[in-house]
Formats: sequence, C-alpha cells, structure tokens
Amino acid sequence: MLHFYYGVMGSSKTAMLLMQRYNYMELGLKVALVKPAIDTRAGVNMVYSRVGLQAQAEIVLESGNSVQEQLNWLAVQHAHSEFQYVFVDEAQFLTEDQVQEMADMSADLEIFCYGLKTDFLGNFFPGSAALLRLAEDIQEVPGSLCWCGQKATMNTRIDGEGNVIKHGEQVLIDTTGNQKPIRYIGLCYRHWREGKSHA
Ligand SMILES: [Zn+2]
Repeated sequence: MLHFYYGVMGSSKTAMLLMQRYNYMELGLKVALVKPAIDTRAGVNMVYSRVGLQAQAEIVLESGNSVQEQLNWLAVQHAHSEFQYVFVDEAQFLTEDQVQEMADMSADLEIFCYGLKTDFLGNFFPGSAALLRLAEDIQEVPGSLCWCGQKATMNTRIDGEGNVIKHGEQVLIDTTGNQKPIRYIGLCYRHWREGKSHA
C-alpha cells in the first residue's frame, strides 16, 4: 500500500518517520530509507529531524531515477531478495513519475511517504499532488502550531529577520551559510494570509 503522511513545517514528520522505521527494523524486517536529492540541508544523505533524530538515507533519488531500479540495486548491496518496507522523507520533492511508479509497486510493498502538502504560496508540490491522487492511505501529521496557538496549516517562507516572503521559486533551500538563513515555519491560515510571522 502507498501511504502519504503530510504535515506542515514543525510537525515532526521526520521524527515520526524515523521512529516508525526503527520499530520495523527492530523486528528484523527489511527496510529502506529513501530521500529525493533536492534537499541538502543536512548533507546529501542525511535524514535529519528537528528534535535530534537522524539517519543516513540508503537511496538518494535523482529526479530521473527509477525507484524500483534503485531498490533492486540496494537489495543486492544488502544481499537479500527484496524490501518489505520503504520510507521516503521529503516526499513532496518526488517527481510525478516516481509517485506513479511507487503506486504501481505498492501491491506487494508498504511504502510510507512523509512530506509537505503545499509550498510557501499554498500550491501543491508535484510530488504531493501525485501522492494525494494516488496514495491509498492519506493522513495528517498534526502538532505544528502557529505563534498564536492555533493549529498551523500553511508553510511560510521567512527571511533572516523573520519577514514573510511571498515571492520566488517553489524550492529554495538556503545553503549560503548565512548566519540568518531563509527558513520555513508553519502558520495558521489567517496569519499566513496576513503575512504575520510573530505577535
Ligand atoms: Zn496564527
């Protein structure tokens, strides 16, 4: 089955993914950790959670990669036949073709995709749109709060001074090494619309 667990920034999606993965690993099940190549915040291979959990992705998917081919390659490296569980972090960065491929693979495989639903402008990411169309199990990862105490539902891009940014390309990850880089936070709909990132 193909699962999509979506949440906004600050909802601890990655921590949940890593804990769920750990539970399967502890049982001795064959588990693969996958991430798209686009996110380089914590090193190309690292899956890093805000609360401190981290792990090394075994597959870093380039946009042209076949998921099945990469899993086959990894199974050979691990000297076993096939994976039973696949975990994908930052799944919003998957391509539509990769999500389609995962849906086609998911009759015999449990695939857990964790990611954002929408970008800082409130639009779908290509990967999220495909997952919302094709995943058989779709659940929200709650827990992120706006500064006002309401549930955060909207991803917001802010600059080093905390000002809300409402223009620019969909994917922008600040790797310039600035002291105060561009960041993403979760806001409630009202404060996202008003562009108010603090009291
Ligand atoms: Zn708010």
